[in-house]
Amino acid sequence: MKYEVFWKNPGYKVRAPLKKDIECDYLIVGGGVLGVSLAYFLATHQAKNIVLIEKNTIASGATGKSAGFLTLKGELDLDSIVKKHGMKKGIIFWKGNHEGLNLMKNIAKKEKIDCDAENLHTVYGMLPYPSHRFLLKEYEIEKKIEKTTRWLSGDELKKQINTPLFKHAILSFDHGLSVNPLKYTQGLSQVIEKKGVAVYEHTPLIKLQKDSAETPHGSIKFKKIIIAIDVDIRNKKVKNRKSTIIITKPLTHAQRESINMVENKLVWDTKIRYHYLKLTKDSRILLGFGDRIVQKEQKNTNPHRPHVEKIKEFLKKLFPQLSIEIEYVWSGTFGVTEDYIPVIEKKENKISVGGASSQVVCTMVAKHIAYKLLGIKSDLDAFFKD
Ligand SMILES: Cc1cc2nc3c(=O)[nH]c(=O)nc-3n(C[C@H](O)[C@H](O)[C@H](O)COP(=O)(O)OP(=O)(O)OC[C@H]3O[C@@H](n4cnc5c(N)ncnc54)[C@H](O)[C@@H]3O)c2cc1C
Repeated sequence: MKYEVFWKNPGYKVRAPLKKDIECDYLIVGGGVLGVSLAYFLATHQAKNIVLIEKNTIASGATGKSAGFLTLKGELDLDSIVKKHGMKKGIIFWKGNHEGLNLMKNIAKKEKIDCDAENLHTVYGMLPYPSHRFLLKEYEIEKKIEKTTRWLSGDELKKQINTPLFKHAILSFDHGLSVNPLKYTQGLSQVIEKKGVAVYEHTPLIKLQKDSAETPHGSIKFKKIIIAIDVDIRNKKVKNRKSTIIITKPLTHAQRESINMVENKLVWDTKIRYHYLKLTKDSRILLGFGDRIVQKEQKNTNPHRPHVEKIKEFLKKLFPQLSIEIEYVWSGTFGVTEDYIPVIEKKENKISVGGASSQVVCTMVAKHIAYKLLGIKSDLDAFFKD
């Protein structure tokens, strides 16, 4: 078993660090999916003079360690959003998620980013614990908005995923995108560079003043700064969640048939258990699990042993018919807030953002922040007040 992140991007050339003093209109700190997408939205809306700095390499934080499992319902299901924010605001957020997902699909396609992108359906299943009431409520509310969503049980469910574990599930059409997350964001960083954004890697922000930022070998004078460093943000509302992923050896066609995954899909075992499953482009099972809040310092990729054991147990119960070896395992951390709504704080010429908890929300929030910076009305104003 290899204790390393599975995702690789062999053709990627890391950029040189900043080694002089420069000036810009927009300085973005953090080269994860949020920071890079923000640069993209600014650049595609004619903003000029944009600089992005990343302390390691692009997508070296949560982004490049994630599953690349992009869905609308993740940590935050529709029922919970509506319960907390009411139907009107809840639907705005849900539509924002739709837009975030569609933006990622369109960006990958339009910008020809080689990232194994696959548009997929989602199967939101659930172990029969404590009851399936939660799932049914989610289905009822989703069905009102998404006309094609279906309730699955019995043979219909088995056709989607052949497991004795799920008794019920929600099938949502076109609610998912699978990518190699490292390639997506590193690919997007090459796109923004072509659009005129200056990108510096191995360039940490070490000191911040009102209108200038210090890095080890150069300072940057800026008009506006956006800090998109997720778990490294200094904000108590953003907690550090650890998640662990295993990748098996490639499945044969017969093995895919035995679990009814000839057609790939994104499978969730709801927020209560927090398992997520998909097949990679080369037919391996990617199975993730994680609901542990850890200290901000615990950010290494060493697998969290209790998670690994739980994933192994789950894989055996999920597909008892399958005998397959695990080849890769790693952990990573990302920022979450208590209600899974990201924190966006604006103070004079500085915006800090973190705790988005998913890449779809990162993309939706990146567009919202770009709009705010450019004075364009955003549908998400109801959520994120200035
Ligand atoms: C194991 C795991 C699985 C996940 N699976 C999924 C999934 O399948 N689907 C999904 O939607 N989400 C998933 N997530 C969550 C998702 O990856 C994150 O919500 C998202 O990537 C956060 O993006 P970001 O740009 O805000 O942060 P990051 O990707 O962490 O980017 C922040 C960047 O800021 C840089 N930085 C920090 N401090 C400084 C500084 N001082 N100067 C310069 N740069 C700095 C960091 O090096 C980092 O690259 C997963 C996360 C993990 C860890």
